[in-house]
Amino acid sequence: MNDAHIRSIVILGGGTAGWMSAALLAKVMGRKRRITLVESEEIGTIGVGEATVPPLQLFNGLLGVDENEFLRATNGTFKLGIEFVDWGRLGARYFHPFGRHGDHFDVAPFHQYWLKCRLAGKAAPIDEFSLCAAAARCSRFQRPPTKDPRSIWSTFSYAFHFDASAYAAFLRRYAEARGATRVEGKVADVRLRAEDGFVDRLVLADGREIAGDLFIDCSGFRALLIGQALGVGDEDWSHWLPADRAVAVQCENAGPLLPYTRSTARRAGWRWRIPLQHRVGAGYVFVSDYLSEDEAAADLLAGLDGPALAEPRLLKFRTGRRKAFWAKNVVAVGLAGGFLEPLESTSIHLIQTALTKLASWFPDRRFDPMIVAEYNRLHHLETERIRDFIILHYKATEREDSPLWRYCRNMPIPDSLAEKMELFRRYGKLKQLEGDFFQDASWLAVMLGQFVTPERNDPIADLHETEPLAKTLETMRAIIARTAKDMPEHAAFVERSCAAAAAH
Ligand SMILES: Cc1cc2nc3c(=O)[nH]c(=O)nc-3n(C[C@H](O)[C@H](O)[C@H](O)COP(=O)(O)OP(=O)(O)OC[C@H]3O[C@@H](n4cnc5c(N)ncnc54)[C@H](O)[C@@H]3O)c2cc1C
Repeated sequence: MNDAHIRSIVILGGGTAGWMSAALLAKVMGRKRRITLVESEEIGTIGVGEATVPPLQLFNGLLGVDENEFLRATNGTFKLGIEFVDWGRLGARYFHPFGRHGDHFDVAPFHQYWLKCRLAGKAAPIDEFSLCAAAARCSRFQRPPTKDPRSIWSTFSYAFHFDASAYAAFLRRYAEARGATRVEGKVADVRLRAEDGFVDRLVLADGREIAGDLFIDCSGFRALLIGQALGVGDEDWSHWLPADRAVAVQCENAGPLLPYTRSTARRAGWRWRIPLQHRVGAGYVFVSDYLSEDEAAADLLAGLDGPALAEPRLLKFRTGRRKAFWAKNVVAVGLAGGFLEPLESTSIHLIQTALTKLASWFPDRRFDPMIVAEYNRLHHLETERIRDFIILHYKATEREDSPLWRYCRNMPIPDSLAEKMELFRRYGKLKQLEGDFFQDASWLAVMLGQFVTPERNDPIADLHETEPLAKTLETMRAIIARTAKDMPEHAAFVERSCAAAAAH
């Protein structure tokens, strides 16, 4: 019997990170461990973070949450990927879909056969070989009716858009029902143990004290525990990802309910559009050296679908990550651990994987440095791989029309990304690295969509004659197009399966 078990876990912060932590820990530990979440209504949460990636389905599954119930509670919609507008060139657009392109049909990856035909002028654009992209194009959605690995549905995947505040409230109900305790209050001081500098207790402004064995720092950009109390510094990545501000606003829905996020590159950054059941979330992520806050807000408001529902809010940030996500008895989850701009909707995903890693590498009160080191290694790797993927969007551009795009075109990039781009440019090869979250389909979509074009296909694909190969591809394309057209409209599917009571 291990008498060094963690008995009490304290989560500081009640944003998406805090309540995801509380929900998962409450599910895993139940009432066997004390779970306390401290948050301050006066400070509030960041209140953005509404687009996700498919593994959130797994998180729902881990919690045992019914997907329709979750979508009803959060005014949620389905997401099949991201449409990128004006990124590679002004006037160009492409789709980064979830799932895979085409289907397996030989030893080389699908895209090598596509590439052979495409280089010979005998294949449609890559988007047409993605069921997610095809469904997105005609604003359709349904859940896969089969799990048969031979079916085209095996290439399909989806994520969600949801209201961030409603999601935190949903998870709060879930966690509290399973024994987590919420404490309202503002942390005014953090007491460290004299002998080893571990966090001993939080002291609230009204004098209450909250002690614990393990502390999860979900205090957002303030990083109250990992940064301020323990002094763990951060690594600045703004030379690769220079955006440092966003203005965000909500507006009325107009037009069809699209099952995807849109990202439109602008002179000094990019604008997002996230459709929910009851409204659209919009924002402009920008570089303050190149655009003023007023100009960004004006650009955002001019591009809205419908009337704004509030004044635009300004958010300031810096891209980078903590030098250690876990130090002593503090694990930083969410914005306290670092920030990658929301271009590929990866922050909530990194919260999820931080928590599942923590569950896998759960400590006892000895906090073995080997466990801490492995956790940090794995989470650092994953964050860096996502960072590279986001940098790719900025680097692979032909735009020269503003200082931001001229800077990005010419900036040095991490070696890990440079090598991936070069292998793809020369041979159409996609290299997966340890910790890569984004798989081949994602790299393929963005590289091709932003004009990183391979010079040749894989020699293995040359074992096939072009004409019969092109016919096979055309049959596949037709099946994909037909399957997409047979799906219900996204709006009708939402209405039927998960319409929120108050959606209008
Ligand atoms: C512009 C922008 C767009 C984004 N879009 C996306 C997206 O589309 N998809 C995505 O996955 N992610 C996105 N993100 C990231 C996402 O918003 C965050 O990862 C997510 O909301 C988690 O935030 P958090 O819980 O770490 O911090 P916060 O929401 O800031 O919560 C911090 C919590 O700590 C509490 N707190 C702080 N100090 C104290 C104190 N002294 N005492 C008591 N409590 C305290 C606060 O009250 C609050 O409850 C976006 C971020 C930005 C900036």
